[in-house]
Amino acid sequence: MAGGGSRRCRRLEAEAARAVLGAADTLLFDCDGVLWRGEAAVGGAAAALGRLAAAGKRLCYVTNNSSRTRAAYTEKLRRLGFPPAEPRHIFGSAYCAARYLRQALPPGAAAYVLGSPALAAELEAVGVPHLGPGPAALPGPTPADWAQAPLDPAVRAVLVGFDEHFSYAKLCQALRYLLRGGPDCLLVGTNRDHRLPLEGGTAIPGTGCLVKAVETAAQREAFIVGKPNRYMFDCVVSEFNIDPARTIMVGDRLDTDILMGNSCGLTTLLTLTGVTTLDEVKGHQEIVGISVVGVLSFSPSSAQAGSQLVRLTVQGQQDPLRNQTALVDKSRSTVTYYITSQSNHTAVVLYDSRNGYVCYKPVEQHVCYLRRMDAWDLQTLQMTLNTSEQRGDQLLRQNNQTEYYREFLGILARQAVDPKSLGEAVQTLCEQTSIFWVRRGEGPGKQRLIYLCIDICFPSNVCVSICFYYLPE
Ligand SMILES: [Mg+2]
Repeated sequence: MAGGGSRRCRRLEAEAARAVLGAADTLLFDCDGVLWRGEAAVGGAAAALGRLAAAGKRLCYVTNNSSRTRAAYTEKLRRLGFPPAEPRHIFGSAYCAARYLRQALPPGAAAYVLGSPALAAELEAVGVPHLGPGPAALPGPTPADWAQAPLDPAVRAVLVGFDEHFSYAKLCQALRYLLRGGPDCLLVGTNRDHRLPLEGGTAIPGTGCLVKAVETAAQREAFIVGKPNRYMFDCVVSEFNIDPARTIMVGDRLDTDILMGNSCGLTTLLTLTGVTTLDEVKGHQEIVGISVVGVLSFSPSSAQAGSQLVRLTVQGQQDPLRNQTALVDKSRSTVTYYITSQSNHTAVVLYDSRNGYVCYKPVEQHVCYLRRMDAWDLQTLQMTLNTSEQRGDQLLRQNNQTEYYREFLGILARQAVDPKSLGEAVQTLCEQTSIFWVRRGEGPGKQRLIYLCIDICFPSNVCVSICFYYLPE
């Protein structure tokens, strides 16, 4: 599937492939599920990359997997028959996390690391002192011992990557550093991938599970280095002279690879060799991307590229940085928004006018929140459907002021909803997750905490912060 030259998502047949590849000088490849699964190369991948390299294309590799150094990735590429690569072409989340900490930490400050030797090696390579990798035992038999174990005075960050030695002892120590340092101690995760797919359809728990454990203990959100955060693309741009209009992001996941590519204005190419299946892609007829960074202006590069994205930039003092992409499916009368917040949490909001539901799904949580559509929802949905056929400059003339609202939704947590009666769109989005009704309210009151907020902007130039709280039992 590819954009660039067409607003539609399409299968990359030979002629289209020539046009899309001819217009590109750089390709960014995800690795797991695109180039290889475990230790086995994906059939035909090495030969395809060989032809691209021979045609003079610049090939770079962007992977959320933090278990290898740049040098180890170049070796794996060589071993599996891919064209020779230099370490500077590799952008793994271990390298990008080390680079982030080198920029964010004061000189001499150290990181407490839950991660692999590869993560430690990348920190060493950029000169960030660190401690933590490898097995760790609890420092005594009782919780009082655990809470009094020595802490390194230099630690100003907790970094969470893939760690096969992850343990309660490490979780305990990570929390103690975060409690000691408060906001002055950074919390950084390499990625939020829930699982790592392996050859044969099996999978193992991914780094996202470990990041979630630390976030839960510390009651704060980590900054995530990996896709769909654009930080990884910024790493590539800092190394090479990249023109987004001549760059293709190749990946196997809509929610990481393709979402990052769309957020960064790249042409995106989804391979069906990994996580995302054709069924998940089918029906998404057009893609409207809205990139919200803080007075509405139109990005001319997207218009010139004639890409599948309508890209809007909204600026406003009170508006936090976030990225938002909408998938418009006219055949099913749905619009699905993918929203990544400033704190790098991703949520999906589905408007299904055929069945009359609005469904909210915070991606990190296995739960969906559901309410019935009202007249305003229908009006907003229709505007989004119409916008997907408009040019950006038409939108620019219509909108020049962003309005902000906050809405409170109370969660009715007593009884889960049976998905069978909810229609295909909600069922697909909320497969294997619990679904709860929510209802509009005045707000949680002083005694109850807001559970989470999802910030979303609509083509009507209205931005709403939708905040959830639990209603009393
Ligand atoms: Mg992948």
